Amino acid sequence: MSNLERKPVEVICRESGSSSVEVLEPRLVPLGGPRALTVQRTLPQRARSLVGAWCFADAYGPTLAPAPMGMNTPPHPHTGLQTVSWLVAGDVLHHDSVGSTQLVSPGQLNLMTAGHGIAHSEQSPPGHGPTLHGVQLWTALPDDARSVAPHFEHHPDLPVLAGSGATITVIMGELDGQRSPAEVYSPLVGAEADLAAGADARLPLRPEWEYAALALAGQAEVDGVALAPGPLLYLGLGRSDLTLRADRAARLLLIGGEPFAEHLVMWWNFVGRDHEDIVEAREQWMAADRRFGPVPGYPGAPLAAPSMPSTRLRPRGRQR
Ligand code: MN
Repeated sequence: MSNLERKPVEVICRESGSSSVEVLEPRLVPLGGPRALTVQRTLPQRARSLVGAWCFADAYGPTLAPAPMGMNTPPHPHTGLQTVSWLVAGDVLHHDSVGSTQLVSPGQLNLMTAGHGIAHSEQSPPGHGPTLHGVQLWTALPDDARSVAPHFEHHPDLPVLAGSGATITVIMGELDGQRSPAEVYSPLVGAEADLAAGADARLPLRPEWEYAALALAGQAEVDGVALAPGPLLYLGLGRSDLTLRADRAARLLLIGGEPFAEHLVMWWNFVGRDHEDIVEAREQWMAADRRFGPVPGYPGAPLAAPSMPSTRLRPRGRQR
C-alpha cells in the first residue's frame, strides 16, 4: 500500500453507552491510475493521527469493480514502520527488497517491518478473480526500534478467542491473554472479530490503552454504536471491556495500544522524526541508494516519490 494523498477530513463526536466515541469518516483514495483500486482511508486523520502505534488504515473491497486490474502497486519504499496486510477475501502477491515472495491470503498475517528501509510491491496475482477485500494497516516503530534491519514475517496460524457468538483472531500484539507470534515493538493489539448472527460478546480491554473499531463486513453494535463498513470508530482510553453485538453475521477489526507518546513526521511512505529524516529517505529512494534495494519479481518500474512540499514538515503528536 502506498500513501499518495492528503485531504481534510471530518470528525463527528457521539455519545455512546459508557463514554464518548469519535466517528472518523473515511476518505476515498485512488491507489494508482483510473483503472486502479480505490481505498477507504481512516488513518491518519487531520484531528487524530494515531491509535496506539497504529498510524495508517486503508480498507478496500469486497469487489474490485470498476478496477479490473485489481491491486497493482509498483515497488515503493518504507521507513520507520510496519505494514500489516490482512485479507477477508482474494489474494495479493507481495515481493520485497529483502527477497520475500509471498501470496497474502485471507486469515493469514503478512507483516513487513521496514525499520531502516525496505521496498516492496503488491499486486493482484495473475488470473485473479473479481473479489478483493481487506485492509492494510501500518504501525509506527518507536524511536529505539525505527532503525532495525528490515524483515518480513508470514503467520498462517494465529491465536483465536471464541465464545458468545464471536470468533476473535489475535493478529498483532495481545488480547485477553492471547498473544500473536508476530514481532511488535510497542504495546498494542490488532484483532479481527468474526461475529455470528445473534453474537453478544464482551471483550476485556486495558483501561490504559486506547482502541478503535472498523467494520469489515455487515453491521455490528460496538458499545451500543451501530457500525458498518466505512468509518473508524475511535473508542478512546479508560475502558475495561467492550461489548460487541450483531443481529446478522458481521466482521470487525479492533486496533489499539498504549498511547504513542513520540511525535512523528509521516510523509508519503516514510515515518520519521523530523523534516530532514524525510528529505534523506526521499533522496536515497530517488537515487536508488542501497538503503532500499531493488524488488525482484515485479515486472515494471518503481514508483517515483512525489516532490517535497514547499514548507517544512512538522512533527505531530497523536491528536490535535
Ligand atoms: Mn507499501
